[in-house]
Amino acid sequence: MTHSQRRVLLAKPRSSCAGVDRAVRTVEVCLEKYGPPIYVRKQIVHNAFVVKSLEERGVIFVEETEEVPEGATVVFSAHGVAPAVHAEAKAQKLTTIDATCPLVTKVHREAVRFAEADYDILLIGHEGHEEVIGTLGEAPDHIHLVDGPDDVKNVQVRDPDRVVWLSQTTLSVDETLATAAALRRRFPNLLDPPSDDICYATQNRQVAVKEIAAGSELVIVVGSANSSNSVRLVEVARERGAAAHLVDYAEDIDESWLDGVTTVGLTSGASVPDELVQDVLAWLGERGYDEVQEIEPVTERMHFALPRELDHPATAET
Ligand code: SF4
Repeated sequence: MTHSQRRVLLAKPRSSCAGVDRAVRTVEVCLEKYGPPIYVRKQIVHNAFVVKSLEERGVIFVEETEEVPEGATVVFSAHGVAPAVHAEAKAQKLTTIDATCPLVTKVHREAVRFAEADYDILLIGHEGHEEVIGTLGEAPDHIHLVDGPDDVKNVQVRDPDRVVWLSQTTLSVDETLATAAALRRRFPNLLDPPSDDICYATQNRQVAVKEIAAGSELVIVVGSANSSNSVRLVEVARERGAAAHLVDYAEDIDESWLDGVTTVGLTSGASVPDELVQDVLAWLGERGYDEVQEIEPVTERMHFALPRELDHPATAET
């Protein structure tokens, strides 16, 4: 094999989505407006580099609002929070800025609406994920978590003719459809979500990774291990027959992964700044993978405005 044969198929869309851009920008504007320290409940987005960079600029990440000093400003992460967390913050007289992605908020609203209509809501998602915890908190008496097709047999509902499924925004599209199909076999009158819950960014990145995986022996996904959509990209690439690995940084790549590999596919999760992908491209270029072909099966143009609270911060007094 000569070096000139080596190439990279670079997926597009990749890296930060509109919800992540909005959440990170929200914290940056808070730093500019209020000055450090700014408290953020949970990681603002699931990316180690983003969290470390913001910590260096004076952001303090906490697990729960009780760790935030009374009267301080706290930002809620892109993954959303349960109503109980808003209530806790209010009790502590915190100023709150909610950076929940609007597409997560949409799922919360669907949950509230179906709970009010007294449906049993079957939420397809991963147990323990922050987004799922937040959505469950909107209607704990009406929502049942379904963690993949194997969990369908465990679901118990009050009325099998009054059930709807919703989902976490960052799942594998194919696995979610398989879970929904298994639910429908048990509950033939199951309602579908009013619109796609798996967000545009998750879907587009999966479409793109399928394309690059089909033509690559190895796929490198840049993203953190706690990033649901990034982990799904690795799974989707493997399902397409490519070897696939998740890395936070270029230096995490094991050179032995390249043994016998002519074409490397490269993509990144929706929480990843693209500079980390550029670092991987440079790392690959140094090893002879210097022909880069961008594969763009879907064009993405999405932008979300900053939270309204940045003009009128929500406090306990308001
Ligand atoms: Fe919003 Fe989807 Fe991005 Fe999550 S991955 S922040 S739901 S756009």
